[in-house]
Formats: sequence, structure tokens, C-alpha cells
Amino acid sequence: MRIAVFPGSFDPLTIGHEEIIRKALPLFDKIYVAIGENANKKYCFPLEKRQQWIRQVFAHEPAVEVAVYKGLTVDFCREVNAHFILRGLRNSMDFQYEKDIAEANRRLAPEVETIFLLSSPELAHVSSSLVRELYHHQGNYSEYVSFEL
Ligand code: ADP
Repeated sequence: MRIAVFPGSFDPLTIGHEEIIRKALPLFDKIYVAIGENANKKYCFPLEKRQQWIRQVFAHEPAVEVAVYKGLTVDFCREVNAHFILRGLRNSMDFQYEKDIAEANRRLAPEVETIFLLSSPELAHVSSSLVRELYHHQGNYSEYVSFEL
């Protein structure tokens, strides 16, 4: 079984995240979309909602499972026997940030490999923070999320 963990805040899940997950589906037998809960971090949307939206979007994809974890991503990977961490890259800023995290995770858990998938150029500007900004100011976020916030 090739098992991957796609970790993130998903505050909320965007069509950018969705694209990465769909592109990864042929590569893995199971993908845990894993919501990392950090007690010190303020989220815009409640955990229940963030979970529910991901479940809804991937209701017809049995390979996708939604999970919530606390602590280190690599510890969660070990817990579910995942040998891959999936991350999306939009631009060189994402790359600079992600390669350090991947290196740190590799040192903690050499058996877990981080796999990067590139977003398509049309979605490279999409982010959860953009959606939150639009949501707060009654802007139209509907082209970035596939459900009602
Ligand atoms: P985090 O809080 O860890 O940044 P996010 O929920 O914002 O979590 O993102 C999770 C993953 O999804 C990250 O790998 C991020 O680079 C990726 N991602 C976010 N938006 C997009 C997008 N528009 N296209 C491709 N990947 C994306």
C-alpha cells in the first residue's frame, strides 16, 4: 500500500488543494488529508467545518480520508504507516519554505519521502489566506472554493 499524508491547515480547502489531491490520486492507494491542529494558531473556520468540507468534496473518492492530528507530521505518518508526505508548490517562495521543512522531516524520519506536485499556473495565485480575506470583506470567493462557506 502506497500511503501519503497531505498535511495542512485547510482553512479552508481551496481548489488549489483539490487539484494537488486529484493529481496525486493515481500515485497513491490512500491519501490522508491531514489537518494539523496547533493550539497556538488561530483559525478562521472551525475544525468541524474544515473536516466536513474536505469529506464532502472527496465523498466519491474512497482513497481520500480526512484526519486530524496534533504534533509532528512525521509522527502522524508513522501512526498511519505513510511513507510519503505530499505538498503542493505554487512558486519559488513555496519551494524555499518547503525544502527546509522537507529536509527537517527527512532528518526526523528518513523513511518518509516528501513528494512535491506543481500547481497549474491558473491556480498558482490561489491560497486559503486569499479566500479568508474575501470572506471577511464580503468578496466573491466562489471561484476558489467548491462549497459554500
Ligand atoms: P499550511 O498551513 O501548512 O501552509 P495550507 O493548508 O495552506 O497549509 O496548504 C497545504 C499544502 O497545500 C501546502 O503544500 C501548500 O503549498 C499547498 N497549496 C496551497 N494552496 C495551493 C495551490 N493553490 N496550489 C497548489 N498547492 C497549494
